[in-house]
Amino acid sequence: MSTIKKKTQQGLLVILSAPSGCGKTTIVDRLLKRHEDRIRAVSVTTRKPRLGEKDGVDYFFVTREAFKKMEKAGELLESAKVFDEYYGTPKSFVREQLKSGKTVILAIDVQGAKILRTKAALKGPQFSIFVLPPSVKVLRDRLEGRRTDSPEEIEKRLQIAQEEIKEAGSYDRTVMNQNLDQTVLEIERLMDEFLKKKSAVHAA
Ligand code: 5GP
Repeated sequence: MSTIKKKTQQGLLVILSAPSGCGKTTIVDRLLKRHEDRIRAVSVTTRKPRLGEKDGVDYFFVTREAFKKMEKAGELLESAKVFDEYYGTPKSFVREQLKSGKTVILAIDVQGAKILRTKAALKGPQFSIFVLPPSVKVLRDRLEGRRTDSPEEIEKRLQIAQEEIKEAGSYDRTVMNQNLDQTVLEIERLMDEFLKKKSAVHAA
């Protein structure tokens, strides 16, 4: 990886989407482990912190007013309303990290991913991955198992998950999260493959 990175001036933007409860946070944590050349962009959200979540670590938790202000000031690379709350990616942080050659991982929803794809908001390489659950039943079990959402919230998330899965084909690659270790390895492999292809084009 490091030899490839030297040839690539601008870092890689990795967009990772997955239905809620599909293991996205754990996957991202694993992708970051022992990789100082990778970083996750901490999003801004208007939703309330869940038990154990920390401001500035899991999200920047802000009021709707503050969010709208940031949006209006052009401080967000993309933003979307998900489950009746607003989420957005801080633009300057992502730009700076990419400029310094880091691989920036965005764990965002399908609407945000679409914006980044169509808007070509950033110069430089972008690679998108959609993580699929093995089945809706498994997704339901995971959402119920984490005990952070009410039954109504879980139903809403499952309904949205099914809509999101329809968008999987718009991503560069899809990976089914049947086994966490294998999923992480597969994403690593896909990122490497993408970077190798890019650097080959670059060198040609
Ligand atoms: P949660 O509330 O479960 O943390 O996240 C709900 C959804 O919002 C997930 O699909 C998550 O990926 C998405 N999300 C988190 N941050 C962002 C963001 O900055 N932009 C967009 N578009 N979606 C986000």
